[in-house]
Formats: sequence, C-alpha cells, structure tokens
Amino acid sequence: MKIVFGGTFDPVHIGHLRMANLLAEYFSVEEVAMMPCYMAVHKQGVGASSECRLNMLSLALENDRLLSLDRRECLRGKASYTVDSLYELRRELGDESLCLAMGTDAANGLPSWYRADEFSGLTHLVIMSRSSLQSGERKMLTEKLELLGFSQATTLKELKTTAVGKFIYIDLPRLDISSTYIRKRIKQGLSIRYPVTDAVSAYICDNALYQN
Ligand code: ATP
Ligand code: MG
Repeated sequence: MKIVFGGTFDPVHIGHLRMANLLAEYFSVEEVAMMPCYMAVHKQGVGASSECRLNMLSLALENDRLLSLDRRECLRGKASYTVDSLYELRRELGDESLCLAMGTDAANGLPSWYRADEFSGLTHLVIMSRSSLQSGERKMLTEKLELLGFSQATTLKELKTTAVGKFIYIDLPRLDISSTYIRKRIKQGLSIRYPVTDAVSAYICDNALYQN
C-alpha cells in the first residue's frame, strides 16, 4: 500500500508534517510520500515557485524517516496534473493499493480537478475529516465522491485488499495552522517560529519569500 499526501505546500508547515506522520502510523506503512503540485509561473501570485516549495519540503523532511518527497509534478514542468502522476504511480505499483490523502477542503474541490472522473480507476482516497463535521456537510462530500465513481469503505482492510476506487473518512487531529496563516504573518512582519520548522523559517527569510 502506498500513501501519497498531495498539496501546494506553500509553505509546508507542521500541520502537514504532523498529519503525514499520523497517516503513516494509522496505516502502519513505512513511508508517506509528500507530492507538491506544480504551479504555473503565471499562477504563482503571492506564492513561492515550485523550486522554492520543493526546497522547503526537502529541508522539512530532512530528519523525518517516515516522510519522503515525490518531486514528479514540479519536475515535469508546464501543465503538470495530478491525473498524470496517478497514471505513473499506477504503472509503478502494478496492482498494489494506492491512497491519495487529503483534507475535506481539498476533497470538496476535487470535482473541478483536471480529469477528476478518471481518479477512481487509479487510486483510493483517504479523507482526513473530523467526525464532528456536520453530517450534512459529510453527506454532500460523499455524494460528490460517489459521482466521481468512488464507493465508501468503512474498514482499512478494504483499502489494503483492493487497489483503487474507494474512499474512507479518517478522523485524525488537525493542528489549526494553514499556509495562508503563515504567509499572512510574514507579510505583517510577525514571527513564524514553531508553525514551520527552523530550517524552513531560515529558508523563507534568506530568500525573502512571501513578503508581498
Ligand atoms: P493554504 O492555506 O494555502 O490553502 P494549506 O495549509 O491548506 O494552505 P495546502 O497545501 O493547501 O495547505 O494543503 C495540502 C493538504 O494538506 C490538503 O489536503 C489539506 O487539507 C491538508 N492540510 C492543510 N492544513 C492542514 C493541517 N493543519 N493539518 C492537516 N492537514 C492539513
Ligand atoms: Mg489549502
């Protein structure tokens, strides 16, 4: 079973790192791969380049033997999509199970991802969601995922014994931190010590990222 945690990671913070560690523990796997998405230069806006986001991730993961960095989307360059990575991963894995992990915020946007209707033939989804989430909200998300061809699993065993096509909600504690919050603090000239690792904080400072 392979677990991939995708995101923009602009920048990576301890909420991401902690969640990826909990995922490894929860699924009893030796590794979780963090896979930052490519960002077109014209889309970068206030954000950092793909290269800087990769550099920050590799600094953040340096001493974490549970987490690895999958650079494929950033290295592929222009117009790089998750669907392409899923096809590649599927070829690499044969009929081994693949799980793409994401929070409910990302999962809610999934139908608008490029070729999202192909995802259920390529991967499972692990949705990190608080069980306190209003049941109406969860029901709406469930319907969206079912429309994309996924069916809900209730046990981890189901995800391990099949390769693709299922989603599961798992309730893992989420730290109340976001990259938006970090970028805002930097813009305001405030400290980002602790929510990002020391090495990432130093990199942001040395490269004057997120100043405006
Ligand atoms: P932004 O504020 O720019 O949206 P973000 O902190 O949400 O940044 P993303 O790169 O958008 O980070 O998210 C990548 C993945 O990490 C998503 O699936 C998201 O649900 C999840 N995630 C974001 N913040 C946390 C957190 N504090 N704890 C656990 N997971 C998180
Ligand atoms: Mg986000």
